[in-house]
Amino acid sequence: MKKLKPLYEGKAKILWETDDPRHMIQEFKNDATAFDGTKHEKIEGKGVLNNRISSHLFGLLRDKGVRTHFVDKLSDNEMIVERLERLPVEVVVRNVAAGSMVKRLGIEAGRKFVPPVVEFYLKDDALHDPILSEEHVRALGLATEEQIAELKRRALEVNTIMGEFLRERNIVLVDFKLEFGLKDGELVLGDEISPDTCRFHDASTGEIMDKDRFRQDLGGFIEAYNEVLNRVSS
Ligand code: UDP
Repeated sequence: MKKLKPLYEGKAKILWETDDPRHMIQEFKNDATAFDGTKHEKIEGKGVLNNRISSHLFGLLRDKGVRTHFVDKLSDNEMIVERLERLPVEVVVRNVAAGSMVKRLGIEAGRKFVPPVVEFYLKDDALHDPILSEEHVRALGLATEEQIAELKRRALEVNTIMGEFLRERNIVLVDFKLEFGLKDGELVLGDEISPDTCRFHDASTGEIMDKDRFRQDLGGFIEAYNEVLNRVSS
């Protein structure tokens, strides 16, 4: 497969067009960003770790019958993915209160949600990714009623599969963000699943094993990502 030109460059990844119109190459960069891109650093080794972790988690989901864009790991920091029609909606699932929800609603971090909370956000940097109600998603024509129900169903299915898999590896899946796209009218899970897009806490010690180490300047970033890789690949 030949890498042609970049189709899209985000904060942490580049999507490359290839000589196969059905497939793209997703390259993971070493850039770490937070707070709307105002905090930005290059962290050696991050791209390789996120590619490995994402490949494992997409492989797990595929084995459990979840339709994803993941085709295969291509190199240390690249994977082959299916080309999708982008849906500008981020779907967040929360099992435990953290991050923006704690700030927005003034609740205590660590509060558990059974059943989990599903949220939608508009993927728009200029607008700072505002939260959307289901009515907003429908009214803005971002997804149909049926697709909204399907997005929620798929996101909760991913939560169940990953939550159980991680629990067996002594990791609490606090929350995560998913992005979906359309292929031949069908919703397909895209983007990445990594400690950049999920919150992972050690189940015994509560230690943070995700991008919050960067957001909160906690140090031990690569060590934590390495530990996640060790556990998801065991
Ligand atoms: N998240 C993400 N990209 C975003 C926003 C959130 O991957 O643009 C992930 C984030 O890592 C966390 C979950 O979605 O696992 C919920 O994030 P939250 O809304 O708490 O926002 P944050 O604390 O990142 O501002």
